[in-house]
Amino acid sequence: KLKLEELKWDHSFVRELPVFRSCYTKVSPSAEVDNPQLVAWSDSVAELLDLDPKEMPYAQCYGGHQFGMWAGQLGDGRAITLGEVLNSKSQRWELQLKGAGRTPYSRFADGLAVLRSSIREFLCSEAIHSLGIPTTRALCLVTTGKFVTRDMFYDGNPKDEPGAIVCRVAQSFLRFGSYQLHASRGKDDMVLFALWLIMPLGITSPLENLSKSDSLSFSTGEGDDSVVDLTSNKYAAWAVEVAERTASLIANWQGVGFTHGVLNTDNMSVLGLTIDYGPFGFLDAFDPSYTPNTTDLPGRRYCFANQPDIGLWNIAQFATTISAAQLINDKEANYAMERYGTKFMDEYQAIMTKKLGLPKYNKQLISELLRNMAVDKVDYTNFFRLLSNIKADPTIPEDELLIPLKAVLLDIGKERKDAWTSWVKSYVQELSASGISDEERKTAMNSVNPKYILRNYLCQSAIDAAEQATLAKLDAECPSQIYKTTVSGLQPILTWTSSEGKCIIKHLY
Ligand code: AMP
Ligand code: MG
Ligand code: MG
Repeated sequence: KLKLEELKWDHSFVRELPVFRSCYTKVSPSAEVDNPQLVAWSDSVAELLDLDPKEMPYAQCYGGHQFGMWAGQLGDGRAITLGEVLNSKSQRWELQLKGAGRTPYSRFADGLAVLRSSIREFLCSEAIHSLGIPTTRALCLVTTGKFVTRDMFYDGNPKDEPGAIVCRVAQSFLRFGSYQLHASRGKDDMVLFALWLIMPLGITSPLENLSKSDSLSFSTGEGDDSVVDLTSNKYAAWAVEVAERTASLIANWQGVGFTHGVLNTDNMSVLGLTIDYGPFGFLDAFDPSYTPNTTDLPGRRYCFANQPDIGLWNIAQFATTISAAQLINDKEANYAMERYGTKFMDEYQAIMTKKLGLPKYNKQLISELLRNMAVDKVDYTNFFRLLSNIKADPTIPEDELLIPLKAVLLDIGKERKDAWTSWVKSYVQELSASGISDEERKTAMNSVNPKYILRNYLCQSAIDAAEQATLAKLDAECPSQIYKTTVSGLQPILTWTSSEGKCIIKHLY
């Protein structure tokens, strides 16, 4: 009997008759589905296909810390995994429908998703991927033809919104909270679960990822018996791998100004992917206290500047969980946390050094820049693009130093102008000592500083257009597009047409 993932598909008709176009027309299924139910199933036909009837879609059970408190059992309330596809590179990709209805973990909610949040998830996961940051992906988005009632502003004025389903894709959707739940159920449960994960997933053997030169033992400075040897405990090596992937992920978010908004441990991927796109936002004006999550006020636990510390807090919960299940000891847990800190600082410093086009890390220059940016609410994305136009020429007169930055230093008084002039002066000094040509530096900086990010207004204009197309009941075809952000610009990824109030969305690549 074959599992879903083992079914082999072919399109021999299309494959063998590519030139005889009149033999076929490619079409997409487009019937609207309202509350589909399985009515009949033939075991003997399943037998014919070698299909195992027990291979049903499923929802995962996990737990988590929400806003700093252990929330106990949670689970996929509106995500349903269809199965895993094995591609020709022997990669395993899990396909999951988000918004396809209630599961046993839906609690009081409806298991549905609206077009607005689905477009946000689709666009942002593709945008984050285009920026080179690990993330779950999205294959496609469909509207359901049904309405879903949501109180978007929590103001007691719910409105009907078009329902939608995103098919999202990742090598695994396992979260820190998956392990926390199993550990809370006891050691045996946890060992089984952790073993299973370590074997089949992309991070199959954490030990293979550790190079021999990467000092495998670590001294806590408390004498010889306190050495942590990662080769002797695969769980300790795995905890370090999870910690380092998380540190690298968050360093990358800080680099592009991405604020996740809900970094609960059930929204932290053990593969270090950006997962669960909810009230995320990219920084416009630089503001360390920015949070896109209106339910995170006034505490701002998940604001932009807190993300690195929250990552550590979450790794601490994760490490505590697996040490409570006796897979690692206290020293190994502490070591994983320490490696989180080291990896974060290494990557963050490297990212900021590249963003500024500096020959080497300069803590003072970078901190002073961020302070200045916060005071004058400078756009975090546009600033670094313009910065690449500065010439490494110390003979430029002081009153000309700010010319390249004019467009982002708006309405600043004399005192602030002086502060910026003094910063640019130190910056030019640092650059001129490096010996790198202006053109070379500009190219390098522009290759790491995105020209476009998925700003909220871009996302909202895509949502408005898609909602209009869905709601307007237009008879005429009305094509529209959604874009992906890349370092070099926006590219269309989705196009949709509407007729009879139905929105058909096509994936373009
Ligand atoms: P989140 O803050 O988005 O990670 O959601 C927390 C929990 O609530 C998760 O277990 C979700 O599956 C669940 N959840 C969120 N929205 C819905 C919904 N509309 N229907 C069912 N469950 C939901
Ligand atoms: Mg979640
Ligand atoms: Mg969510």
